[in-house]
Amino acid sequence: MFDDLYQEIILDHYKSPRNSKDLEDRGIAFLDNPVCGDSVRVAVDWNGEGRIDKVWFEGKGCAISTASASMMTDLFQNKSLSEAEKICGDFTSIMRKESDQDLADWGELESLQGVVNYPARVKCATLPWHSLEKALEKRKSL
Ligand code: ZN
Repeated sequence: MFDDLYQEIILDHYKSPRNSKDLEDRGIAFLDNPVCGDSVRVAVDWNGEGRIDKVWFEGKGCAISTASASMMTDLFQNKSLSEAEKICGDFTSIMRKESDQDLADWGELESLQGVVNYPARVKCATLPWHSLEKALEKRKSL
């Protein structure tokens, strides 16, 4: 599924996830991927200007879902709500092959490009992003 460099990046994020902590009662409910057993939830810190200060995740799951969550959380600093929604939408449509884009400009997330050819694993990669979308929706309803 992955070449060696990509595999190394994914395993690094899997073993040492960034921005991961116990969210206790913060954040949204867990989203689950029953096929694989992945489970993740997300919380967003907003700054005073309505932009994202930090995205956190809590979860357990396979290397793909954990690495995707870890890399995702690094992507949203200083983004507005609508910018963040667009990024989530772009990523999930690339993963579902609904877009003519690829992940070439997405930094380390490019390591997940190979997943698009494995439909069973696409859900693993997109689960954290759906969880973030829920957190953004929650913000909108405030
Ligand atoms: Zn998985």
